[in-house]
Amino acid sequence: MSGRILVVDDIATNRLVLKAKLAASYFEVIEADCGQAAIDIARAEHPDVILLDVMMPDMDGFTVCETLKSCPETSHIPIVMVTATLSSDDRMSGLEVGADDFLIKPIDDLALFARVKNLMRVKMMFDELRLRDATSREMGITDFLDSMTREDDNKSSVILAPPDAKTGQEWCKAIDPNLNVDILTTDSEHEVLNLAALEHPDAYIVHQNLIGGGEGLRLVSTLRARLDTRQSAIVFVVADGTMETAARALDLGASDYIVEPFDPNELVVRLRSQLRRKLFSDQLRSNMRDGLRMAVIDPLTGLYNRRYAAQHMNKIVDRAKAENGEFSVLMMDLDKFKTINDKHGHDAGDYVLKEFARRLQENIRGVDLVARIGGEEFLIVMPDAGRMVATHVSERLRRAVESKPFVIDNGDKLDITVSIGVALGAADDCDIDDLMKRADEALYKAKSNGRNLVSFYASAA
Ligand SMILES: [Mg+2]
Repeated sequence: MSGRILVVDDIATNRLVLKAKLAASYFEVIEADCGQAAIDIARAEHPDVILLDVMMPDMDGFTVCETLKSCPETSHIPIVMVTATLSSDDRMSGLEVGADDFLIKPIDDLALFARVKNLMRVKMMFDELRLRDATSREMGITDFLDSMTREDDNKSSVILAPPDAKTGQEWCKAIDPNLNVDILTTDSEHEVLNLAALEHPDAYIVHQNLIGGGEGLRLVSTLRARLDTRQSAIVFVVADGTMETAARALDLGASDYIVEPFDPNELVVRLRSQLRRKLFSDQLRSNMRDGLRMAVIDPLTGLYNRRYAAQHMNKIVDRAKAENGEFSVLMMDLDKFKTINDKHGHDAGDYVLKEFARRLQENIRGVDLVARIGGEEFLIVMPDAGRMVATHVSERLRRAVESKPFVIDNGDKLDITVSIGVALGAADDCDIDDLMKRADEALYKAKSNGRNLVSFYASAA
């Protein structure tokens, strides 16, 4: 995995040492020699990970970290604080300002690479999600910012897998008053997997040794591999105090680790940042799902849009060919729709479109495709429907619109009518563009013959 790493240190030798190690593993390294330079370069270059010295003359690492993490442009870039000494207080202040991890000088290679690779993976996943989200937003499909304001309403759930019941209680005691989460506790690997399938928790805290049966590292690997738990956060608790274990956990897919013995507050802060990250990625994902839905649905009427209709018509045609069947294409246009907007306003116009869509759906079969393909233009494609069915249905639709006035918000009753053009398709005559054109021609005829009419395309032959 290659990526770009920003190394920040006021001492040139320190930068050189790190650069040599990282470059040997094919990472691209950029450098900053003070806090302000770090902020400027991070903003301009968007590195994948930042290794940030804590002690610097112009600005300490905590301030740099806080600045970068509070700016939307750079908040997603993982930051590892690098320091010669790390008191428990320092560690907490680092976590509070958003640091993702710490490395102690002189830097242990195993710790360095395990962390950097893990953070880079996380960042790549987020970059991809952010990119897709940006695309949907550019297409006008999702409004991401709206959905970002709900963090407090979301109660997360966490499964604790402590080594024993007493430790589980201690973890609970630390987490419960500080985070808005539902907590389930079990010290058996098997139980965790059972609970996971039932509860779909947002995060797990997994201890290296599970007294109730099983093994922490294997559990991490299983949780990562399973489809229903893949997106959850996992904080791994290292019991043997070795970096080998921590590195292995990160490699297997743990999102974070903490080494025993630890300050319970540190567990809380690490869990909190994992839960935030999870919520954020959930929102991006669900925006995308909505986005996909919205890509084929007309938001005003809930009918399919032109894009979907074009795709689906191919299927109807294929079936007609395969079964030597027939089908009908109905093109519809609300009569004098523009005057409704002009006279009664756009809200009234929207209401008429929605109500019209509803009446359409009430009067067709489940297999028929209904789509809004333009402002007041609608399309119905009816598989397995020849002239008789098409006549019957289009007349019924015309009457369903004419027979009952549309009542707008202020109580006004609007008399609405629709013109319908019909073209008939068959296995040996099913070019979609042709059929659409014919239906359009028929529609034009209905309009010019006085509107509120059904008209069939009549071929010259
Ligand atoms: Mg320094």
